[in-house]
Amino acid sequence: MQHKGFTLWFTGLSGAGKTTIGNMIMERLQNAGAKVEILDGDVVRTNLSVGLGFSKEDRDTNVRRIGFVSELLARNGVICIVAAISPYKAIRDEIREKHENFVEVFASCELDALIERDVKGLYKMALEGRIENFTGVSDPYEPPTDPEIMFRSDKETPEGSAEMVWNRLVELELISP
Ligand code: ADP
Repeated sequence: MQHKGFTLWFTGLSGAGKTTIGNMIMERLQNAGAKVEILDGDVVRTNLSVGLGFSKEDRDTNVRRIGFVSELLARNGVICIVAAISPYKAIRDEIREKHENFVEVFASCELDALIERDVKGLYKMALEGRIENFTGVSDPYEPPTDPEIMFRSDKETPEGSAEMVWNRLVELELISP
């Protein structure tokens, strides 16, 4: 397949589907022979950003680091998938500015559905006050105002959302399968 180097940046609340859809897209790209990497927020926090916490300052540092690495990869022709809550719009926009090709994907889901789903058991803990600064419960999340792509994991199947993301990348002429 032909493709450009670009960053596919998933933003959204915990459990909204960033990793699920990011991995589905990654697998499909790999099967098509593309050069692709994924930077998953949960994984990055155990290496690249080990030691950082969840204050605004630490979150910004974490997201900027991810943005720095993703731009290096994208600049070199790699498709870099990022799955990170990245709650602050200004930082996402700052990273967008540094990129030649940046695609923001908003993983959207009603809070009620996330609490019900609670994939990692974190919402229960956050609501009981056992985790502080939890995005969407006790910490801010600023949704994108004009994302290239948006999906609704409370209304769509993972396969449907992934297909939509894929088709949009074709439409944007970033990949040509
Ligand atoms: P995040 O990476 O945003 O924290 P995850 O991908 O770990 O979220 O979890 C999302 C959960 O939502 C998974 O259990 C997934 O199966 C489920 N889900 C249901 N519908 C969708 C959809 N349309 N897109 C993505 N995930 C979905």
